[in-house]
Amino acid sequence: MVLKMPNSMEECVYFTRRKLEDKGFAIAWVYREKCPKCKKGLMGKPRDEKTGKVKILAKEYVCPECGYTMEKGEYEDTLTADIQYTCPHCEYKGEHQMSFKRKKVKVFDKEEQKKKSVDALKFKCGKCGEDILITKKMK
Ligand SMILES: [Zn+2]
Ligand SMILES: [Zn+2]
Repeated sequence: MVLKMPNSMEECVYFTRRKLEDKGFAIAWVYREKCPKCKKGLMGKPRDEKTGKVKILAKEYVCPECGYTMEKGEYEDTLTADIQYTCPHCEYKGEHQMSFKRKKVKVFDKEEQKKKSVDALKFKCGKCGEDILITKKMK
């Protein structure tokens, strides 16, 4: 499997690049996908009618071709996340593809010193089988 890195952020609904503990590293991205209704338009956040700027904080995605609208979470759950990683446990470099469907995972928050439930991409390293976690910090 060779994942194709996006050429620009415009192609993605999500992109992150981060360190995983001390030795690990991950880049994860989620491509925008075509409208499930007309299969032509690329679903995206709605644009402001006056300025033409994308409304980043919008809670829905719309198809520019047919106007089909989907609630943010509903649309994102149908997408696929592509991940390139360096395992924080064994330093194996691998790739992984998985559903972007949100899943709550308990993690230990170092700042607050307690366990917290967060949305995360969780998968197993292709070599050592340990869990790798990429929390979804959506800004
Ligand atoms: Zn459409
Ligand atoms: Zn590993």
